[in-house]
Amino acid sequence: MSPSDTPENTTAPGVEGDAADGPLIVFDQVVKRFGDLTVLDHLDFNVAAGERVTLIGPSGSGKTTILRLLMTLEKVTEGHIRIGGEPFSHMPRGSGLVPASESYLRRRRKSIGMVFQQFNLFPNMTVRKNIMEAPVHVLGLSKDEASERAADLLDLVGLGDKIDAHPTQLSGGQQQRVAIARALAMRPEILLLDEVTSALDPELVAGVLDVLREVAETTDITMLCVTHEMGFARDVSHRVLMFDKGRIAEEGHPDQIFGDPREERTKSFLKSVL
Ligand code: ADP
Repeated sequence: MSPSDTPENTTAPGVEGDAADGPLIVFDQVVKRFGDLTVLDHLDFNVAAGERVTLIGPSGSGKTTILRLLMTLEKVTEGHIRIGGEPFSHMPRGSGLVPASESYLRRRRKSIGMVFQQFNLFPNMTVRKNIMEAPVHVLGLSKDEASERAADLLDLVGLGDKIDAHPTQLSGGQQQRVAIARALAMRPEILLLDEVTSALDPELVAGVLDVLREVAETTDITMLCVTHEMGFARDVSHRVLMFDKGRIAEEGHPDQIFGDPREERTKSFLKSVL
């Protein structure tokens, strides 16, 4: 056991061979098709470790599919994804590329957290249990350690007093803050956020975004975020990717994308949402 594997420091295990200098996430000519529908069309982009990237663009442009590929909820059709320099995707048959093994994918997946539009909390468990579940069963933390971690994270998301509540006793915004705490409990290297405020009543959105701002400011987690909250995207991201029809129409610093978009497609999209 190396020092970093001691229980106090147990984080979601990364995978050996992380390229310290190279990008953390690489999409290399990634194609994703559902039947005849091409959802991602020879997509190339990189994300550096610690970078916060927001994906914007019209509905159906492929943003969620990117997150689902990173969660291995979908498989690439062509091309490949690398994380930490290692092949991450299942390689298509006949591509000549070495596929990532199931055990590698399982290990790597533990280092990636996702928060969905629907909070997906376990309704029959308390908030504490919801947060403890994966650290205990996937990382092997003791119940005491996991409980302490849950309490700390609930303080971070402003819900320390709800630790013994059930999800049904919480508002949508509170449930989403628990879902964020649950994802963070795995100490992920990468956090994927898929329209996490879209299902919330408008008055609950700010509280959730404040929590995510705090996470962005106080951690070095690499974040990929799909959102329609442009103010949040502008504040939090290092880079914005504007998608259109499965390709990147424009990318840049948020000040440039929101303040001085160059592509017509970006201008018309921003006009429709701002
Ligand atoms: P976005 O997040 O930009 O709205 P998505 O990545 O969710 O876009 O979807 C891109 C396109 O892929 C949409 O046309 C959607 O209907 C289609 N799609 C997504 N998942 C599936 C699936 N499992 N089967 C068939 N089509 C899908």
